Amino acid sequence: MAEILAAGEALERALALLESGDVVAIPTETVYGLAGDATNGIGVARIFEAKGRPRFNPLIAHVADMAMAERIAVFDPLSKRLAEAFWPGPLTLVLPQRPGNGIHPLVTAGLDTIALRMPRGFGGDLIAKLGRPLAAPSANSSGRISATTAQAVADDLGARIKLVVDGGATPVGLESTIVKAEGERLRLLRPGGIAAEEIEAALGMALLRGGAAGVEAPGMLASHYAPGAAMRLNAGAVGKDEALLGFGGQRAEGWRHAAAFLNLSISGDLREAASNLFAYMQELDRSGARTIAVENIPFDGLGEAINDRLSRAAAPRDNTEPTP
Ligand code: AMP
Ligand code: MG
Repeated sequence: MAEILAAGEALERALALLESGDVVAIPTETVYGLAGDATNGIGVARIFEAKGRPRFNPLIAHVADMAMAERIAVFDPLSKRLAEAFWPGPLTLVLPQRPGNGIHPLVTAGLDTIALRMPRGFGGDLIAKLGRPLAAPSANSSGRISATTAQAVADDLGARIKLVVDGGATPVGLESTIVKAEGERLRLLRPGGIAAEEIEAALGMALLRGGAAGVEAPGMLASHYAPGAAMRLNAGAVGKDEALLGFGGQRAEGWRHAAAFLNLSISGDLREAASNLFAYMQELDRSGARTIAVENIPFDGLGEAINDRLSRAAAPRDNTEPTP
């Protein structure tokens, strides 16, 4: 069972877990978050595993200060104004990533944008001490409502995580408001802890709402996930001009002749496979192979989300995707 420690005495233990690539449930002003080091793929994979999330949707990365935020993302003037007005606080900004920022691709589900927030209180202190951003969705199993007390987190996730930091009941009790710049305007992607009216008052401008051109729920869009190459799943053999994405010790027939070959996890560890998935798909895509054949991946644990991601990539492409 997870240990519950008061925020005042939990910092060192939380840091040690994060440093070792593990997850920690922490209080924030919105709801309790299940945090992992956003630069550590295994830590991020453990978040999905502990929540039992069936798909890899992008997570919010949490920062300690503006300098950290600007190392991760590129701010347009409107987003900058909102950060100055509302951070630390329950506001998340979706921004273009700065190349080479060290954020693990599992945090953003392979997107080139990132959702950023600066939390108040224990989370902010923890991130400052760690010196790296934390990826954190709400600390509840997939499909359950967000937890607003340490006990609710422990009741739900206690068997799957080692530490819940108790900061009392979360003051806001709602997830953060998410906005994204679109040219000279800002779009409300998710209502939350800061009222849209408050943001509009600070900007002196109405927010765009509804039917966004952007990607509110990137995990829902098959085409967004499609690499240039076609994908062929559950491959028992490699065809001519195909690259191979392997798993465990399967060695699909003809693997030696694959145009390129990467193994998601030689030991068959689904956590390691999840952390390698986005980077390896991109790398095999860059090999120029026409098709990426993928060996069978089991459906248990993180395998469900890995298979979800792969089948989206293999789905027929819609015409919004550039044709190779
Ligand atoms: P949660 O962490 O469960 O509160 O959910 C994070 C929310 O942020 C989800 O609604 C995501 O779709 C959204 N989100 C995270 N990253 C991005 C991004 N790069 N672009 C658009 N939405 C995002
Ligand atoms: Mg949630």
